[in-house]
Amino acid sequence: MRHVIVVGGGIVGLATAARIAARGDQVTVLDKEDGLARHQTGRNSGVIHSGLYYAEGSLKARMAAEGARSMAAFAAEHGVPVEVCGKLVVATEESELPGLHKLAARAEANGVPARLLDPVGAREYEPQVRAVAALRVETTGVVDYAGVCRVLAARIEADGGEILLGEEMLAARTVGDRVQVRTTAADREADGLVVCGGLHADRLARASGLEPAARIVPFRGEYYGLTETAGDLVRGLIYPVPDPRFPFLGVHLTRGIDGHVHAGPNAVLALAREGYRWTEVSVRDLGDALSWPGLWRMGARNWRPGAAEVVRSLSTAAFARSLARLVPGITADDLVPAPAGVRAQAVERDGGLVDDFLVQTAPRQVHVLNAPSPAATASLEIAKHLERELDRVLPSRVG
Ligand SMILES: Cc1cc2nc3c(=O)[nH]c(=O)nc-3n(C[C@H](O)[C@H](O)[C@H](O)COP(=O)(O)OP(=O)(O)OC[C@H]3O[C@@H](n4cnc5c(N)ncnc54)[C@H](O)[C@@H]3O)c2cc1C
Repeated sequence: MRHVIVVGGGIVGLATAARIAARGDQVTVLDKEDGLARHQTGRNSGVIHSGLYYAEGSLKARMAAEGARSMAAFAAEHGVPVEVCGKLVVATEESELPGLHKLAARAEANGVPARLLDPVGAREYEPQVRAVAALRVETTGVVDYAGVCRVLAARIEADGGEILLGEEMLAARTVGDRVQVRTTAADREADGLVVCGGLHADRLARASGLEPAARIVPFRGEYYGLTETAGDLVRGLIYPVPDPRFPFLGVHLTRGIDGHVHAGPNAVLALAREGYRWTEVSVRDLGDALSWPGLWRMGARNWRPGAAEVVRSLSTAAFARSLARLVPGITADDLVPAPAGVRAQAVERDGGLVDDFLVQTAPRQVHVLNAPSPAATASLEIAKHLERELDRVLPSRVG
């Protein structure tokens, strides 16, 4: 039996730890917080993505389509609330039609069933939507990701693993056939280490002797809830045609698995890696972001949409206007502020956004350096990938 330390009690770390524990290895999961899923995993849109958007052949494309199936099946099997309700991507003006058609072609390339609809067809699904055309995707769903994490945690413990909360990994190094992991609570040792540290992924890799090619830049995504009356304007999931220059999908309307409709997320630079409000500022995090040439290069290329995002963040009326493009009945009075999330987005030195999932390895160590959306959807598939990567960096099992 080997002993593996998994850092990160988000959905990627827990899914990976559950696989490793299930095959009989001893697993220790560490998370610095006093509960699981406290960051990206517990603060997202709760959508099971279909695999529609991603470049053909990418890890994202493969793992989202497969992950959508495995996540929905896993949740159903373990009694976690889940619904495969489908979604509508809507073009609200003629200029968005080429983007919508590109998306339809991508869906076909990725093997995701999708149908183009005219405005009448779109309104059969969403009677209040404004659309010149739409794309209907049936395999999108909604799920309680925190609930999935609770099941994964229970499985880890049932398979003899341990989950240690409130323990922060500080550094690691491989010495001979062991990995030494220094934490705020202890000096630990194991045969292997898997780090799924989300917003801190690059720092943890550096603290383990790796040289990550990209740096994590935190993008806050703010949400509003719709009042109950306005919620009646939305049946399911309504998305805009995304701007292909950005990795984010655009502010959308989602009827979550709890039945409430939420709107968001936008995307503004967070002033701390866990900065869920404008007032949460970390000098270290901000210094790190601003000293990275990639951030400035990205900012220079995208200052105009970036400024629009800031306006939308500061003005509920501007936020409501983006939603009213999709569903004209929505006004600022219908919006109630809801908790924000912060996305860990890896940005390269030249300002390029790392589009695909990114994993880097060292002897006995596996580090996840970029696991943005749809990594929650794809987490059970990412876990298989990480298990294989771990086996590659660990000498083969004896006996
Ligand atoms: C606003 C928003 C909306 C999104 N919407 C969707 C969606 O609808 N569908 C979808 O599929 N994906 C979505 N995503 C993406 C998805 O949430 C993430 O890809 C996924 O949750 C990543 O999981 P993770 O385990 O890698 O990271 P996290 O959930 O962030 O977990 C990382 C964990 O590592 C811990 N940690 C960090 N540093 C240390 C340390 N030094 N020591 C110990 N522990 C540490 C943290 O406390 C945390 O618990 C969204 C993300 C955001 C932010």
